[in-house]
Amino acid sequence: MVGIGPGGAGHLTPAARRALEEAEVWAGYAGFLPAVDELRGEKRVITTGMTGEVERCRRAVEAAQNGDTVAVISSGDAGVYGMAGLVLQLLGEREISVEVVPGVTAATAAAAALGAPLMHDFACISLSDLLTPWETIAARLEAAARADFVTVLYNPKSKRRQEGVARSREIFLRHRVPATPVGVVREAGRETQEAAIYRLENLLEAPVDMLTTLIIGNSQTYVAAGRMITPRGYENKTGFNEERVMGG
Ligand code: SAH
Repeated sequence: MVGIGPGGAGHLTPAARRALEEAEVWAGYAGFLPAVDELRGEKRVITTGMTGEVERCRRAVEAAQNGDTVAVISSGDAGVYGMAGLVLQLLGEREISVEVVPGVTAATAAAAALGAPLMHDFACISLSDLLTPWETIAARLEAAARADFVTVLYNPKSKRRQEGVARSREIFLRHRVPATPVGVVREAGRETQEAAIYRLENLLEAPVDMLTTLIIGNSQTYVAAGRMITPRGYENKTGFNEERVMGG
């Protein structure tokens, strides 16, 4: 199980690259294979569309059972809303040797584009209600908002689901001030990356799609010179001499 990072070649780890090169068969969502296409060569590729995840993983497990070395490819990290869990579930008790190769996940790629918003405790929540009922998602949003977690939103929108960001905003507005910074990053870690910081109250102005990750600040998060910062608490200790400049 190989996480190939957020898309740019610079964020593909050497271990992930080696695993991709060593594999005889690749299994992955066709939509992101171009990111690693130069490594593909003559390898057999198991692709099905976005909805064919279970079938694709089943075929990957079959190939592994037949003795092939298979790389199951996920974007970001394979174990964060990726394929690693499903593959391990399908493998069950079978004694096939497995390696999970970690990758740069969208949360940290987006955070890097914004500044340092994840310096304190944070929660990741996927807004996809394909596999999780919305009531569960809403309860987790509510809990994260109440507990003052910086909150990363994956899968904010798809063609079928348009309301997730608006509903999340409403929930957070019950617990955080309207000026709370929200970082919105599209295609993090790629040449086409776009990053902007909104206020929670203005969040509906932000363009959001399937390739966007949102980071909602906690009660301490602020913006200085366009950089989003969640303080860890050093400023409360003696010896912290930097002047804290409030902005945004
Ligand atoms: N395994 C992946 C997450 C897959 S879920 C990882 O660890 O990053 C798909 C969601 O990830 C997208 O809807 C989006 O919210 C986020 N995502 C993936 N790649 C991204 C990128 N390059 N920039 C911003 N968000 C991204």
